[in-house]
Amino acid sequence: MSHHQDDILLVGAGIAGAAIAHAFLQQGQRVRVLDAGPKPASGTSAHAFALAHPGLIRARPLLQRLTYIAFALAQQTWQPFWREEGIFQALKSGTDFDEELLNAQLLTAGFDQASAQPLRASEARRLTGVARDGIWFPKGATINLEKTCATIFSEQEKLTYAPNTLVASLSYDGLHWHALDQDGSSLAKAKSIVLACAHGAKALVADLQIALPLKPVRGQLNQFQISATSAWLQYLPTAAISGEGYCLPARHDVATNTYTLVVGSSYDENETSLASWPSSDMHNKQQAAALLHYAEGDLSELNLAGTYVGVRCAANDRLPIIGEVPTLPGLYIATALGSRGVLWSALAAAIITAQVQARLEQQALAGESTQAPSAALARLARLGLSADLLAAVSPARFLAGALPAALASNSNPIFPLGSSAK
Ligand SMILES: Cc1cc2nc3c(=O)[nH]c(=O)nc-3n(C[C@H](O)[C@H](O)[C@H](O)COP(=O)(O)OP(=O)(O)OC[C@H]3O[C@@H](n4cnc5c(N)ncnc54)[C@H](O)[C@@H]3O)c2cc1C
Repeated sequence: MSHHQDDILLVGAGIAGAAIAHAFLQQGQRVRVLDAGPKPASGTSAHAFALAHPGLIRARPLLQRLTYIAFALAQQTWQPFWREEGIFQALKSGTDFDEELLNAQLLTAGFDQASAQPLRASEARRLTGVARDGIWFPKGATINLEKTCATIFSEQEKLTYAPNTLVASLSYDGLHWHALDQDGSSLAKAKSIVLACAHGAKALVADLQIALPLKPVRGQLNQFQISATSAWLQYLPTAAISGEGYCLPARHDVATNTYTLVVGSSYDENETSLASWPSSDMHNKQQAAALLHYAEGDLSELNLAGTYVGVRCAANDRLPIIGEVPTLPGLYIATALGSRGVLWSALAAAIITAQVQARLEQQALAGESTQAPSAALARLARLGLSADLLAAVSPARFLAGALPAALASNSNPIFPLGSSAK
């Protein structure tokens, strides 16, 4: 294959790659995407029912701040694909409904009356069909990840998309990053490379002495068909519900006069099987009964009508891994999106495009005596992405100790080539 000159080389055509490609293309950059799969979204993003959930996360303030910002970014990034129908976040059963306290917590998290409303079970029942205490997020949405990826990786000016292309390793020649195939031949090169390849990133950067603590978490989602005469009908949600798992609003099919309920997901750590599991079917039926507050519901009336199984990629600290690798100029990572592909992909696109931009600004200024602050990084700060948040998601958090001191220096970048790095 010939060596094309692209601005950005991107590995991975899932939702992370889609958000990043989209953002660079909007800036007029030339993007080449390599993916091992036969079509876009052939990995975990082969998912038609993903929630984009703003959410109140009381136990983890940093995650709350990141989620709030990422939700706003996702709203913009995914606009054409965004189905804004609202999401109801049910409080954990057994939790007291303290409206004043919830309002105070929501306010602290950045929400206002228009974007989040605590609801008592009786009000929730009227609005969502489900009689549970919780919080209504009217701007909550769902998106079809698979369709979104297919659209973004369809023909576009300045985009080259290569399916069936496995990147086996990387190398750096001092100016360009090369994506190499299994024989060590260069597939493509560019000054900036972005690894948006979920679990695949681990092996690619292991050669560069970076140990990403990624683990697989299998998840199964079920579609259940429910007859129009079932007692479940009185409990079916008219809005998406999140809590212990989640479900989408039940849809009525006129032709068969049945209802379809989508419920998920199982969370099976260190499992990678893509097979549909009967134990997960049962788990999701039980989840449906709990979510919809219908513990005595007859589970045999939830008829299996479809499954989606995917393997999430999660970091050990349950935060995504997003951003430049400080020791390796031009190398960017966007992985460990966990259960939040919609939100973290949009966050990754904002951070990585700004960091690439900042590096170009820096190179343009090289040799000049004035140190102008980066306009691109100032833009991130304006979005609320302060240094502590950027550090919390940065791949740099896995560098300390993993790199010998000489390699961890920022001012003196090293250029590892192939697997000969120590
Ligand atoms: C059951 C379940 C329910 C979920 N529900 C939600 C939800 O409601 N809301 C939400 O936001 N998220 C949800 N998620 C999470 C979401 O699906 C993921 O976070 C997201 O799809 C991950 O996207 P990705 O682009 O990082 O990875 P992927 O979609 O897996 O894409 C990675 C791509 O990289 C390619 N690749 C890997 N290695 C290489 C290599 N060496 N060379 C070339 N290509 C390579 C693969 O072929 C693949 O196409 C759910 C996940 C599961 C399993």
